[in-house]
Amino acid sequence: MNIEDKDYIIVGSGPGGATVARELSKRKKKVLILEWGDNDPLTGSFWQGARALLFPGRSMLFTRQMLGLVRGITTGGSTVHYYATSFPVPFRMLQSYGIDISYEVKELREELPVGPLKDEMVGPMSKRLMESAQNLGYSWKKLDKFMYQDKWKPEYKFGHYGDPHRVKWSARMYIEEAVANGATLINGAKVKKVLFEGNKAIGVEFTKGIKKYKVFAPKVIVSAGGIGTPVILRASGIKRAGYDFFFDPLIGVRGTVKDIDVPTSEIPMTAGVHIEDEGYMMTDMAHPFATTAMFAAGVFRFHKVFSRRNTLQIMVKTKDELGGKLTDNGGVRKILDKNEKQKLRRGYERAKEILKDAGAKSIFKTQYLAAHPGGTVKVGDLVDSNLMTKHDNLYVCDCSVIPEAWGMPPTTTIIGLGKRLAKYLSEETR
Ligand SMILES: Cc1cc2nc3c(=O)[nH]c(=O)nc-3n(C[C@H](O)[C@H](O)[C@H](O)COP(=O)(O)OP(=O)(O)OC[C@H]3O[C@@H](n4cnc5c(N)ncnc54)[C@H](O)[C@@H]3O)c2cc1C
Repeated sequence: MNIEDKDYIIVGSGPGGATVARELSKRKKKVLILEWGDNDPLTGSFWQGARALLFPGRSMLFTRQMLGLVRGITTGGSTVHYYATSFPVPFRMLQSYGIDISYEVKELREELPVGPLKDEMVGPMSKRLMESAQNLGYSWKKLDKFMYQDKWKPEYKFGHYGDPHRVKWSARMYIEEAVANGATLINGAKVKKVLFEGNKAIGVEFTKGIKKYKVFAPKVIVSAGGIGTPVILRASGIKRAGYDFFFDPLIGVRGTVKDIDVPTSEIPMTAGVHIEDEGYMMTDMAHPFATTAMFAAGVFRFHKVFSRRNTLQIMVKTKDELGGKLTDNGGVRKILDKNEKQKLRRGYERAKEILKDAGAKSIFKTQYLAAHPGGTVKVGDLVDSNLMTKHDNLYVCDCSVIPEAWGMPPTTTIIGLGKRLAKYLSEETR
């Protein structure tokens, strides 16, 4: 294991860390990636996925209102389990903080397989919901997906628990590239804090198993995600990290149909609509058996636990106001307020209408969930427009740096930020 003589230490391998690692290693920089989760080959099995995504207290965190917040602890971060939707970037908002990633987003759209799904990949649930929503006058359209569509086969299950067929792009693929370019990846490495000499970051301390290590490099980039990054920064003395954040709360609205048999290959978030003035988006949302059962049982619909094949589901996801705080261990303390609940309620009423038009009966909603924690280390507050903290040589690049309430899938934006940071660090100008 060669961990001496590195130019950069990158903590975390989600889309933020993976993009920076790939871009820097492409430029012949010596990169060390420290990742808490494992790098086992993806099998797509429930047990492997559950270990990385649904482990209470580690990857599945609960607020006091029992809102379940999930994050992926594995190489590639949450993108190993995400729905692979590439959502438009709010360029104007970022520009108002001195950040222009228009070029980087153009570049990523050329490099990655981004686009709407071809018709044969649109499953029966998505098709039915799209027809009903359009009947009712919604501008419900196919969304862009990060998917290698030429590799897809109808018999492939969607990679909710990781995609062994590699149809779904995930940040793990950028890590593979970085390693092929010479980067070193250490798994099972949980970073505890950044090490300083005066005001200058000089390395990090991490544990692997029961052993503690210190590694050093001229620059440190923390990309441990919206929860992981503020926990590390706080332990490093940056006490204001982890306050006033967003997590984009959502509900699933479900109904039962008799005439559709939803296949396990059904791709979630194939199409949808963003109702910006009311502050939420709605999309189709296929789930695998376990989460269908879990979330039905969570609202006492025990008779719906085994009904995955006949369930149509719409996800309603809203933009929550910035608020709340994380505990020093990453516990999430944030309350959904009346306004946010009302927005989800409004979305629920609309989703119900679409489901009824689609022929669904016994409609109900799931408990609150969330999957986009961010805004915990904001640009313009704890990092500058180059994503540098107030400490020399210490940068942050992940969902934490987003400066305002959000409410949409963030991966495209995070990759754009990662590309921009790598260029800045390599002293490249456009
Ligand atoms: C089920 C689900 C579906 C989603 N669908 C979409 C979608 O369709 N489109 C979209 O754009 N977004 C989607 N998202 C959200 C998206 O995946 C995340 O917003 C994105 O991955 C965040 O990137 P990140 O780099 O900030 O952090 P993460 O992806 O969370 O990566 C952080 C990494 O840091 C590691 N880490 C954490 N703490 C430490 C530590 N102390 N030491 C070392 N390593 C550490 C973690 O293991 C992880 O690998 C989805 C998320 C989920 C959970």
